[in-house]
Amino acid sequence: ELLVVGSANADLVTRVERHPAPGETVLGSDLAVHPGGKGANQAVAAARLGARAALLARVGDDAHGRMLLESLRTAGVDTAPVLTGGAPTGVALIAVGARGDNTIVVSPGANARLTPEDVAAAHGVLAGAAVVSLQMEVPAPVVAAAARAAAAAGTRVVLNPSPPGELPDDVLAVCDPLVVNEHEARGLLGGAGAPRDPGEQARALLALGPRSVVVTLGAAGALHRGPGGTVRVPSPAVEAVDTTGAGDAFTGALAWRLARGDTPEAAVRFAVRVGAAAVTRPGAQSSFPTAGALPR
Ligand code: ADP
Repeated sequence: ELLVVGSANADLVTRVERHPAPGETVLGSDLAVHPGGKGANQAVAAARLGARAALLARVGDDAHGRMLLESLRTAGVDTAPVLTGGAPTGVALIAVGARGDNTIVVSPGANARLTPEDVAAAHGVLAGAAVVSLQMEVPAPVVAAAARAAAAAGTRVVLNPSPPGELPDDVLAVCDPLVVNEHEARGLLGGAGAPRDPGEQARALLALGPRSVVVTLGAAGALHRGPGGTVRVPSPAVEAVDTTGAGDAFTGALAWRLARGDTPEAAVRFAVRVGAAAVTRPGAQSSFPTAGALPR
């Protein structure tokens, strides 16, 4: 019912006392290796909640790729569309400073080798899904091809434009919803001149052309704006320990509930509970809840 098209990365994390200057070497803590990438995160978030979710992504024919496939399958994601080979698995090299100040180098690897032809070859899966969920850690032509093919097949498109990049008007026009956090909202609305009020942001984003908009507001929840008006949904109050992956958990949950036929408002009400649960535990995928473990 849900197809996610996007990235899969191995996150390689080490803690450092201070970050190295160019030419310098510092020692870090024991390496931790976590499954990540926005596409894989969204698919895992949905599957862990009980969704039938498939992932179209590309990983390398290497140990990181096998680790990612294993974590996806354990969560219950359909990995049949995952392609292998062509480049090493995407990696994020993450140095966490003493004050939580991270420096990150991303090597996209196989993610950058996903092509519009790969999307075309998966047309059956795409047309058979109720919703396709997209982010922008794979090449822009892949995102565009998936959005256009989905729209042509009557599959609903959910798009989180992260990291920010090129978004052709006809791709924006089929997003239902476009899902952004406040940072991404400001970026799309031209930075300093963007409205500060989230309701005004949602109104201005809708004017850019998508069918509907969701703005996530961290601890304040999220806001949905469609042709029928604006709904603001508060997040459950939780003790936040690590917000990594909260947006991916939110969007994976939202996309799945829309695929199930929920109204946008009901889907957002569900997704804020999933996002809130995800911030109560450390890590990205490791923090994603099952359906039985959601705060009210
Ligand atoms: P991103 O992770 O992309 O920056 P947000 O910070 O807006 O996006 O978080 C996404 C969702 O996760 C929010 O809509 C909310 O449901 C949940 N969330 C994030 N931070 C908190 C928090 N401190 N308390 C409760 N829920 C949170």
